[in-house]
Amino acid sequence: MREMTDLTIRLKGDMLQQSDDLLKCSVCGVYVHKEEFFTCPRCRRTPLCRKHRIGGMKECASCVFDMRKKDLNALYGQEMSIKQFLSFLQFVFLGASVFFVGLKFGLAEHVEILRLPLIDKVVLAIGTLSVACYILFRVILYNQRGKIDDVMQQIRKLEVRQ
Ligand SMILES: [Zn+2]
Ligand SMILES: [Zn+2]
Repeated sequence: MREMTDLTIRLKGDMLQQSDDLLKCSVCGVYVHKEEFFTCPRCRRTPLCRKHRIGGMKECASCVFDMRKKDLNALYGQEMSIKQFLSFLQFVFLGASVFFVGLKFGLAEHVEILRLPLIDKVVLAIGTLSVACYILFRVILYNQRGKIDDVMQQIRKLEVRQ
């Protein structure tokens, strides 16, 4: 009988010891071993179980999600600027084309400023430059799309894991 009591005490002791080492995850409520939990440096939530950790990141899954959302917004903003610049280049090209054609049809006879030396070369250079810039920024826009798709994919994955 005494042995039994000893055993119960020992068992109880073991269990207490175990519950000391266990911490409850503040997000999903799962019990995690002391050494396996982590604290998110961004939202300071603790303890968090490994499920909320994204490979290679110090922050928790929902913070990484927030960060990626912000990245996405920034990328959208940049994309908007690139598109606006492309419209501007189209406008410049159109303007240069109209001028160039006008010069060829003798517009300079009526407009004094067009009688400047080398004006046709300058207009041609502006037109060519705008086309070159347009192609370059088209490529940049294409890359930007790739980045946006990438972040969107990451966000979709994170949505499941939050
Ligand atoms: Zn958890
Ligand atoms: Zn966090």
